Amino acid sequence: MTDVSMIIGGERVGSPTTFGVVNPATGEVHADAPECTREQLDQAFDAASKAFIDWRRDEDSRREALRQCAAVMYGAAEKIGPVLTAEQGKPLGQASTELLGAGFWMSYFADLQTPREVIQDDDNAFAEVVRRPMGVVAAITPWNFPIVLASWKIAPALLAGNTMVLKPSPYTPRSTLLMVEALNEVLPPGVLNVVSGGDELGQWMTSHPTPRKISFTGSVRTGKHVAASAAPDLKRVTLELGGNDPAILLDDIDVEAITEKIYQGAFMNSGQICSAIKRVYVPEALHDDVVDALAARASATKVGDGMDPTSELGPIQNKPQYERVSELVADALAGGGSAAAGGAPVDGPGFFFQPTVLTGVAEGTRIVDEEQFGPALPVIPYRDIDDVVARANATTFGLSGSVWSSDVERAGAVAEQLECGTAWVNAHVALAPHQPFGGFKWSGVGVENGPWGLASFTEVQVQYRAKS
Ligand code: NAD
Repeated sequence: MTDVSMIIGGERVGSPTTFGVVNPATGEVHADAPECTREQLDQAFDAASKAFIDWRRDEDSRREALRQCAAVMYGAAEKIGPVLTAEQGKPLGQASTELLGAGFWMSYFADLQTPREVIQDDDNAFAEVVRRPMGVVAAITPWNFPIVLASWKIAPALLAGNTMVLKPSPYTPRSTLLMVEALNEVLPPGVLNVVSGGDELGQWMTSHPTPRKISFTGSVRTGKHVAASAAPDLKRVTLELGGNDPAILLDDIDVEAITEKIYQGAFMNSGQICSAIKRVYVPEALHDDVVDALAARASATKVGDGMDPTSELGPIQNKPQYERVSELVADALAGGGSAAAGGAPVDGPGFFFQPTVLTGVAEGTRIVDEEQFGPALPVIPYRDIDDVVARANATTFGLSGSVWSSDVERAGAVAEQLECGTAWVNAHVALAPHQPFGGFKWSGVGVENGPWGLASFTEVQVQYRAKS
């Protein structure tokens, strides 16, 4: 039995075996988590099925429960924040903010109304469109924002009347186990269950006969497996996948004014954000100024253990990702690029990488074409606005993008040409619960958040009453 438990049918549940969880600041296993068996997964889905019978009935009590869930999350920062930092790596202040963010998302959904839509009311019939819950939802989350991304699923799914079995990433299971344990203090047993284990557990979930919907956040590669696994049973899927977001700077930008925003958009959470800026396009005339400003900011960054209050960026979350970022940066440098800042791992234990600004790279280089998901940013010059829009869109990704200018209208006209789920002007990673978030192309299927995200946890039903 570890010091954290799965929650099945409202009970804390251990498992016959456990697996180690690494602290990325040391590179060492620092704790463990239960390894869910197939029988336990069946029990979790059974518990969710049973809970669904009552949970679906009373919307007012679900709203009240979500309000209480929000309060639980607001109160959880002190206990769960350090656990999140220890397994994820992010600085403690940002871990606390993530927990508060989950509370904020739950508050939003607690009050989100879903009006019934009357579509016919004449001599023949009265007909309206209503939304019905789907049943049991299987939710699978990644390691970059384990808590807040779980809340994007839990809050709308539960509000809609569904019950859930949630699986966190094997890299960051412990904070989610504690989160669900805390939420079970205010939720009826079986409404929200959590299981932990490896990637295989995710496959068991997506191919299990019980869930009617899979809500998945993670990589494109796994998202395709999830879609294929859900298909034979025609389970509904929402897939929130990777991105390779461009930021296009126009020629009238105030470099000094936007540097910090671009830096945060690219390097926050050590660049491990699906919608982080992953490539910056700059007019040739401004290239050197922008590179100098970003390189100065990146070089001044305090990288360190997230438990150190002076750390701005923590480590990369896991070893394979650290090796991937190292490889992409080395590939860029070997191919003729140069590092205006950083360019290599930080010496010593843990998965720390120097905040890196790359120049002399373009399309055809892996770090420009692929999702780096780390603290390394290529800055790429352009001459022509139509050409840069085409280059920004020439990717299988389509999560989000941004255009930066002193003239909002001008930037907006360029942003409208981006093929992605969110097109920001003078902002990036500006996410909010009322904004639908999702990707074009390989960046996903469907959206989360807002009434659109809530609808994705429902089936449409027509209620038709003949009048004659
Ligand atoms: P991942 O795809 O490796 O893993 C995500 C989750 O899927 C984990 O819980 C994992 O255990 C599980 N999993 C792995 N194989 C599975 C399978 N065959 N069937 C079912 N589940 C399986 O992703 P990751 O490395 O944890 O996360 C990083 C990726 O997530 C990046 O590509 C990032 O862009 C993306 N992401 C997207 C969003 C978004 O909202 N669009 C948000 C955050 C992260």
